[in-house]
Amino acid sequence: MKIGVLALQGAVAEHIRSIELAGAEGIAIKKKEELQDIQGLIIPGGESTTIGKLMRKYDFMDAIREFSAAGKPVFGTCAGLIVLAKTIEGQEDAHLELMDITVARNAFGRQRESFEADLDVKGIDEPIRAVFIRAPLIRSVGDQVAVLSSYNGEIVAARQGHLLASSFHPELTDDYRLHQYFVDMVKASQAS
Ligand code: GLN
Repeated sequence: MKIGVLALQGAVAEHIRSIELAGAEGIAIKKKEELQDIQGLIIPGGESTTIGKLMRKYDFMDAIREFSAAGKPVFGTCAGLIVLAKTIEGQEDAHLELMDITVARNAFGRQRESFEADLDVKGIDEPIRAVFIRAPLIRSVGDQVAVLSSYNGEIVAARQGHLLASSFHPELTDDYRLHQYFVDMVKASQAS
């Protein structure tokens, strides 16, 4: 099974490593045509405005929407979560608008630009070590969205069917269980 990582900007190599630890093949995706070769896609962290601009420049917007419409799983981490969201607080325009969530960017404040925490995640047995870097939080979710994890009462991971999103960076530790969770989603989408 091949899982792509959108390789326009951000933590691509780390995601590929975690995908491979979870037993799938990880591929850097630089052109929209390459989406045809993969069964799931990760949109990494970085800077969402920049990733959004590059996605438009390289014609990824409709291509990823079609990928998702075909039922193929997409996982957004940090900036990738922002790119997936239907609504971005304080901004008129969002990006892919695939996931029914409202996100707030850089929501943990200046003094907490980056921090780590142990989080309970629904569907994963033991807490996972989460790395937050200028992280967004999920302000609210629509009916179809399941909250998977919260930190201090704020939503930091959620799932809507074949779409998965986390505020934190699961690729920056050796713990690949959230990638395993995504690989399992991709497997399930192939079976159905
Ligand atoms: N603060 C970034 C943004 O708003 C996201 C940070 C990250 O991906 N680590 O796009």
